[in-house]
Amino acid sequence: MEKIKTRAEVNPQLSWDLTKLYKTAEDWEKEFASLESLLAKFLAYKGRLAESAQTLFDAYKASDDFEIVLDRLYTYAHLKSDEDTADSVNKSRLDRISEKAAVFSSQCAWFSPELLAMDEAKFESCRHDPVLAFYKRSLDNEARYRPHVLSAPEEKILARSGNVLNTASSVFSAFNDADLRFPAIKNSDGKKVEVTHGNYITLMQSPDRKVRKSAFKSLYKVYHSFRNTLASTLYANTKKNILSAELRNMEGARNASLFSDNIPLSVYDSLIDAVHDKIHYLHKYMSVRSRELGLKKLDMYDLYNPLIPECDFSVSWQEAVKYVKEALAPLGKEYGKIAEKAFAEQWMDVEENRGKRSGAYSSGCYGSMPYILMTFKGNLTSVSTLAHELGHSIHSYLSHANQPYHYAYYRIFVAEVASTTNEILLHEYLMKNAPSDTVRAYLLNQLLDEARATLYRQTMFAEFERAIYDDAAKGIPLTADRLEKIYFDLNNFYHGSAVKADPLIASEWSRIPHFYRSFYVYKYATGFSAAVALSRNILAGNTEPYLSFLKAGGSKDVLDIMKDAGVDFTTKEPVISALEYFNDRLEAFDNILKKK
Ligand SMILES: [Zn+2]
Repeated sequence: MEKIKTRAEVNPQLSWDLTKLYKTAEDWEKEFASLESLLAKFLAYKGRLAESAQTLFDAYKASDDFEIVLDRLYTYAHLKSDEDTADSVNKSRLDRISEKAAVFSSQCAWFSPELLAMDEAKFESCRHDPVLAFYKRSLDNEARYRPHVLSAPEEKILARSGNVLNTASSVFSAFNDADLRFPAIKNSDGKKVEVTHGNYITLMQSPDRKVRKSAFKSLYKVYHSFRNTLASTLYANTKKNILSAELRNMEGARNASLFSDNIPLSVYDSLIDAVHDKIHYLHKYMSVRSRELGLKKLDMYDLYNPLIPECDFSVSWQEAVKYVKEALAPLGKEYGKIAEKAFAEQWMDVEENRGKRSGAYSSGCYGSMPYILMTFKGNLTSVSTLAHELGHSIHSYLSHANQPYHYAYYRIFVAEVASTTNEILLHEYLMKNAPSDTVRAYLLNQLLDEARATLYRQTMFAEFERAIYDDAAKGIPLTADRLEKIYFDLNNFYHGSAVKADPLIASEWSRIPHFYRSFYVYKYATGFSAAVALSRNILAGNTEPYLSFLKAGGSKDVLDIMKDAGVDFTTKEPVISALEYFNDRLEAFDNILKKK
């Protein structure tokens, strides 16, 4: 057995360089000690925002000056702690800054309410005052919220009851994460394994249908047995969102959720319409799967096992770097130089060591390198992870380099666009250089499964959410029967006649945590669509619009940023073209399989 290295033993060439953030731990302590006085400077403006435009400007500036330092301290502490989560010095540093941040966040919570409570005429004169020109975008955004602010005593009641109103969601997560247990099943070696949230997907990917089926049954029988409890929590959460929207004079819960990104309902509806228009492509993929698996009908546990499993060949780190650089070459010289810099300056931490946080992410703050944590496993999946995280990091790098701190951070709606674009570019590059049809089929299978999971499945979730909120708003109670029926019908519609779904799938809604973060999942589908559109544009030699998106940070509304880059979500077009791309790749996949 290979011994796992300690943090001290890892190759420094393959570790991130955090000294660019703070040279020493003492430097971090010094800056940490300065936090209180920066906060005091900001708090001095409490109750004074209406004094003058200059005072409001100074308050904004003091807030930025404080937050930029807080971000930097937190970033260093969490990166350092993730290097070795068992290291107590690192852990206590992270605990200290996290505790401080929580206290500060409650101390700073007055700013927006005070601004919103400001007399209308005063607010408008500030909003248009040249002194505040730099913060105009933020003030415009506050102005959108003003019609939805209640009187001071009403706001107080809402603020005080916020925690209680979220009970449905906390009950669900306690139940789902801590209390639920699923019966053990036999794996393909005949050994007993307990089914958990963590290994369920791995079991679904097993080539052994018996294993997949028993894992499916084990999980869903349990969910089904709690159907009334889980219907109650989901219904309560739905009612809470409907009530909150009503109290704030918003037109329904869905509008209220999309409000923060300033996205009209039509974007959400167009996504669903477009997927309906091209639902037959998913049905076709299901038929290809059932033919390849030699099954008359697929069941829901036949969707995750790769059709071409044997092809994940080994790749060295040097090869991975070469592949990623070459794959991203179509993005042009400016992008290429930054990618070179990422490797030369050691943005990433790639070796495994004892205690290192698992998974992968891109993280940094204004003025720091956009660091990447991952564990390079020497396979194609790791190469893809590298391309994905580098997409996030270069997005951050360009946004931070081109925007002032106040507008540098991009929103979640666009976050996965840059990373998925890189994944698609990598896919295209590997396809072009693949040594055999088997490798090509493997790559296509991966892409199709990702598109199925992001584009089709998340849209099905989005449609389910729309349906249950429509019901609840009309006063139709969301009983377990009702939820199961809506879900089962949608599941059948999406998967088509090649699938004969086990009726237990009707309980799937009851295990999706995202339904407690209402109207969020559609962003996965729009993000994937945007990435397809942008990558096609890039491969056609048009990189400028894409780079302008990467440089925009949070300086505009997300729909405008996307529109400037050539992706207009007020039409069905971007989603339709992503679905056409899916179909195109499906045909290529099918042709290779038929040749065999
Ligand atoms: Zn990502």
